[in-house]
Amino acid sequence: MRVLVVGAGLVGTCTAWYLRQHGAEVTVVERAEAAGMETSFANAGMLTPSMADPWNAPGTLAKLLSWLGREDAPMLLRLRAIPSLARWGMEFLANSREAPFRSNTRKNVVLANYSLGLLRSLRADLDLEYDQGSGGTLRACRDQASLDRATELGGLLKTHGVDYQVLDRDGVIRVEPALGAVAEKLVGGIHYSGDESGDAHLFCQELGKASAMAGVEFRFGVEVIDISLSDDKLIIESSGAEKREADAVVLAAGSFTASLARKLDLRVPVRPVKGYSITVPRGDWPDGPRIPVADDHLHTAVTPLGDRIRVAGTAEFAGHDATLRPARIENLYSLLDAVYPEFASRLDRRSAKPWCGFRPMSADGVPILGSTQVPGVFLNTGQGHLGWTMAAGSGKAVADSIVGVPAEIDIGDYALARF
Ligand SMILES: Cc1cc2nc3c(=O)[nH]c(=O)nc-3n(C[C@H](O)[C@H](O)[C@H](O)COP(=O)(O)OP(=O)(O)OC[C@H]3O[C@@H](n4cnc5c(N)ncnc54)[C@H](O)[C@@H]3O)c2cc1C
Repeated sequence: MRVLVVGAGLVGTCTAWYLRQHGAEVTVVERAEAAGMETSFANAGMLTPSMADPWNAPGTLAKLLSWLGREDAPMLLRLRAIPSLARWGMEFLANSREAPFRSNTRKNVVLANYSLGLLRSLRADLDLEYDQGSGGTLRACRDQASLDRATELGGLLKTHGVDYQVLDRDGVIRVEPALGAVAEKLVGGIHYSGDESGDAHLFCQELGKASAMAGVEFRFGVEVIDISLSDDKLIIESSGAEKREADAVVLAAGSFTASLARKLDLRVPVRPVKGYSITVPRGDWPDGPRIPVADDHLHTAVTPLGDRIRVAGTAEFAGHDATLRPARIENLYSLLDAVYPEFASRLDRRSAKPWCGFRPMSADGVPILGSTQVPGVFLNTGQGHLGWTMAAGSGKAVADSIVGVPAEIDIGDYALARF
């Protein structure tokens, strides 16, 4: 069976790996010059079933309205993006009601847990090194209301197998001593000991190499321009006038999947949600952070990745505008200062690497996986803020469904047909 995968981000690379394990003849077509160069390049690096709750949670509309026009808003809606969000936006808001939110959270936890288990096996079996950390993640809270909310969510996630421990202020400092300087500002937190972390780009590169050695063909620097179905054959046209035939195609093009799918008359409700990060050398900081810390109030995460520290956060509905806005980058420095003030004050900003990427966000906050109305065309997208966490599980589930192996999770929960 010949399968063509569009996109060599986390999701496409994992899909290709598992397809090859099933014996398929796999080609990955990627417009960048290497794997993991777009949204999978410099994300927050957290592998977090603990963050399985979709961003369209109860109260989202009120928050979005109150944050309109504020450059320091955790979730910023740019007015010019509104036309492109019309129907998707209505669905996004409809899914923020309590009942769909809970059901969508369950679907995400199932996939996230499954995925993390697979990632651990890949790491062990292939000896992958990606600056991984296995000490869990910490949710730090600055007021009682936010600790209460985080505890309630912890309870919901626990019913789906995510372990958590509620901590008072001293407990937080015991788990992450580097937070000592801001201890007075914290009321407590939650330690999710089963979470992990690691550099997504390094992982992509490593798994890409292993896949190539296993026989996956990577065509880098080639952009897929059109896909059509003719006489039961899928025809894929790419830049450089390349034309290929395949028995199956997987659209794993991140937030660009929707526009590719439109060429096949498929409506895939995924939109880009822009996010930023800065990566700085850890330098001489022997007592620096051991695990990622997500600050609930500041909506940011600070993740140690080997000899680097990454600060990531914020969400912006701005279409595919890749401008690195100074105000949003400045925001990340302020957030770093609020979490690790001593480190922030001696940081040489010239050594910082700013970045932005587009989370492929589905209208209900749950990935879109599996077959479509077009025979042979499969989707693997919509992982949103959890694409690193869910990549291995999504890849395996989609690969299983293409070759007809019984899936280990109910892939029907993630089908396009739900929209
Ligand atoms: C600031 C930020 C922080 C984040 N933090 C986390 C985190 O801590 N944990 C987590 O789990 N997730 C996190 N995410 C989300 C995660 O990074 C994404 O969900 C994930 O990278 C998406 O992977 P992907 O493979 O679907 O997309 P991408 O990485 O964007 O890959 C898609 C690929 O398709 C290629 N492509 C597109 N169109 C075409 C075409 N026509 N022809 C050929 N190639 C094409 C692109 O070049 C790209 O390489 C974060 C995201 C952001 C922005």
